[in-house]
Amino acid sequence: MKKQSSNSHQIVVPEVVIAGGGWAGIAAAIRLAEEQIPVVLLEAEKQLGGRARCARFGNLRVDNGQHLIFGHYRYLLELTEKIKLPAEHFAVQKNFLLAVRNSSRSGFQLRARRLFAPWHLVLGLLAAKGLSWRDKSRIVAFWNRIASAFDDDLDDMNLLQLLQQTRQPETLITRFWKPLCNHFLHAPVELASAKLFATLVKTLLHQRSNSQLLFPKADLATLIGEPAIDYIESRRGKISLNQTITRLNIKEGRVAGVTTETDNIPCKHLILALPYKTCASLFLEHQALAETSYRLDRLRSTPMTTVYLQYPGKARISGGLKGTATGVFSWFYDRRFCGQPNLIAAISHDRQHLPYMNNDEISRLCMQEAARLFRHWPKPTSLLAIHEPEANLCGTVEVEHNRPANRTAVPNCYLAGDYTDTGLPGTLESAVKSGMLCAEEVIREYSEHERH
Ligand SMILES: Cc1cc2nc3c(=O)[nH]c(=O)nc-3n(C[C@H](O)[C@H](O)[C@H](O)COP(=O)(O)OP(=O)(O)OC[C@H]3O[C@@H](n4cnc5c(N)ncnc54)[C@H](O)[C@@H]3O)c2cc1C
Repeated sequence: MKKQSSNSHQIVVPEVVIAGGGWAGIAAAIRLAEEQIPVVLLEAEKQLGGRARCARFGNLRVDNGQHLIFGHYRYLLELTEKIKLPAEHFAVQKNFLLAVRNSSRSGFQLRARRLFAPWHLVLGLLAAKGLSWRDKSRIVAFWNRIASAFDDDLDDMNLLQLLQQTRQPETLITRFWKPLCNHFLHAPVELASAKLFATLVKTLLHQRSNSQLLFPKADLATLIGEPAIDYIESRRGKISLNQTITRLNIKEGRVAGVTTETDNIPCKHLILALPYKTCASLFLEHQALAETSYRLDRLRSTPMTTVYLQYPGKARISGGLKGTATGVFSWFYDRRFCGQPNLIAAISHDRQHLPYMNNDEISRLCMQEAARLFRHWPKPTSLLAIHEPEANLCGTVEVEHNRPANRTAVPNCYLAGDYTDTGLPGTLESAVKSGMLCAEEVIREYSEHERH
């Protein structure tokens, strides 16, 4: 996002300070701007977007990693409506295709059908290639089990326990459930939260549009970020970049403001939309926030590496994405839906090899794996590797138990971020939902204060 207004000296006792300009912070700012409540959004970097920000690849603008948006991202879609983003800005893949190849090269393919829920997926499963009838009946048994489960039943259960309880064969767990769990919850099945996984599967089964994939037709910063900045700034909001929060100023049990590297900025309400590790360290000196800090210390994230491969032609993936259980890179996305034909984004959650390799080695490895998977494609002409060490929140049972609420023990200080207790995996949707919920809390207090 190239636009900025960074003169912090213009700031005069803002009603609300939002610290952190990722999607949680942006969402909070938009909701507050909608109510004409003055906000100041402070971001440490020179652009907004956080973990979903713009990167340059030659003349192209891409995201720092491929971002998938599902039809069930209700809060994110509501946000795009607020800033009047036309629906045509997303390429909708109505019949979501899940194609995963395993080591025996057989893999499986599951395509959602044009039918009412849950038949869009049930029929899709029955017609799926690469799964036996026994596998299909066990998957349906799993769906039935989660449909009738109460959330509390699954509270402490890991996904492996739930899969075993529903008698999923070992081979099916390896071929089908493990790649899905890794992709959506960023955790191994033996640690992943059964409740979180069940919630996600139920959502996909609940309504056909929920399982649709929306490919943004441009990078997220261009598509949503820049209109968002215009929206905020035209409604009494200020955005201040290159502002790193170093301290919270708490007086008599309430936040009085924040300290940045250059300024003290007072505020009446503070929404912290920072990474959880940053919040944990800011909370250390404040006894009232010790319990939250303890919880934050228990959260975990996984790294993600994205390699963009630009081909001279002929690089197309049917349905837009393909998974593989054979290499270090697990998913390949076709960026033609984002208006960038012959550009492929390959992603990896690997922690064993990639952290010890430089970008050239990572790119080479990715190119070799892509060549094995897509044999008829030409050689890529250029590559870009981006490593995000703290990309995705792990959806483990322990993390789920420790995700903090939006409200903190300090009444005018709120937490927003994908890691907060939204009931969703740590995604853009979770980030946006948390930002909106924090904004609602502030709006409630603001209107009560205005009334008195
Ligand atoms: C490579 C990759 C691929 C992903 N793919 C998907 C996907 O397909 N679908 C999906 O839904 N989600 C995906 N995600 C997850 C999604 O990007 C995140 O859930 C979301 O962006 C989190 O937003 P946030 O606002 O909660 O946090 P962040 O984006 O981490 O925002 C925190 C902000 O605080 C700023 N900050 C940090 N310290 C300070 C400080 N001291 N002072 C001021 N500012 C500070 C940071 O610069 C940042 O802008 C992906 C993430 C990555 C990295």
